[in-house]
Amino acid sequence: MNTPENTSKTTSAPVEKSDAQWREELSPEEYRVLRQAGTERPYTGEYWDTHTEGVYQCRACGSQLFTSREKFDSHCGWPSFWAPLAEGTVRYIHDRTMGMDRVEVRCANCDSHLGHVFDGEGYGTPTDQRFCINSVSLRLVHPEEK
Ligand SMILES: [Zn+2]
Repeated sequence: MNTPENTSKTTSAPVEKSDAQWREELSPEEYRVLRQAGTERPYTGEYWDTHTEGVYQCRACGSQLFTSREKFDSHCGWPSFWAPLAEGTVRYIHDRTMGMDRVEVRCANCDSHLGHVFDGEGYGTPTDQRFCINSVSLRLVHPEEK
């Protein structure tokens, strides 16, 4: 919670970087998912079945997005959460590409692609929502590292 990247998160304007900057800062796979709205292959990501306690930050900007408390086992191959860490940490964009009607989830701070959110699938979570997020879009920070 006290890492330097996060201190200005709530007051500053969203992070804006050029495409070249993002390319330089991110790995090719991170760039493909975060900046080009790609999707990692299921069951290949770092966090899809992680149960470790901690806070999931945006891999691109360090903004705190999700916590292990809202993570649940969806068995879909990607990390799944039933709610973001707080209202306003993510933004939603209607996505009608690939013949589907989906809601894309992006980091509100840097506008990087995180994944999609699905409603009413019957997982029995408090919100009945599934935030299906790419592992490569996230970085898990353990409580003892704060
Ligand atoms: Zn971000």
